[in-house]
Amino acid sequence: MEDHITPRRVVILGGGFAGLFAVRALRKAPVEVTLVDRCAHHLFQPLLYQCASGILSSGQIAQPLRAVLRRHGNVRCVLATATDVDPFARVVHAESADGSLLALPYDNLIVGVGVRQSY
Ligand SMILES: Cc1cc2nc3c(=O)[nH]c(=O)nc-3n(C[C@H](O)[C@H](O)[C@H](O)COP(=O)(O)OP(=O)(O)OC[C@H]3O[C@@H](n4cnc5c(N)ncnc54)[C@H](O)[C@@H]3O)c2cc1C
Repeated sequence: MEDHITPRRVVILGGGFAGLFAVRALRKAPVEVTLVDRCAHHLFQPLLYQCASGILSSGQIAQPLRAVLRRHGNVRCVLATATDVDPFARVVHAESADGSLLALPYDNLIVGVGVRQSY
């Protein structure tokens, strides 16, 4: 009888620097990665100044996450806003762009949703 090992489910919240680093680190791991971001694109924040000053267009500093990760066979991108994490049930609750509610089970959770300034 064949021995089937279910791949671990890794949910990554945020497709910024941290989220993409995690995706890349897991590229060859036997895991199923679900990358959740409320935006469809990765924003390269260090170039925001150049965008604000008109040197670059917004399209030059933002790339669709699906395009960035197109060669990553173990990743699926979910366009949704994470609203809650239930660490006991190991489920992320999220709201997708069309308003539908998602429950994303995980074995391992990586949170990389960035920060908010407070001047
Ligand atoms: C103008 C500017 C210039 C900078 N220059 C440099 C530099 O030269 N060198 C350097 O090292 N750093 C620089 N930084 C800092 C660097 O950009 C940040 O440290 C880095 O982006 C942080 O990465 P992160 O993954 O933690 O968060 P982010 O890159 O902010 O990514 C967070 C992601 O999470 C998503 N998200 C947030 N909340 C939710 C939610 N509830 N559900 C789903 N998705 C969510 C967001 O859409 C986003 O894609 C600069 C920042 C700015 C603003």
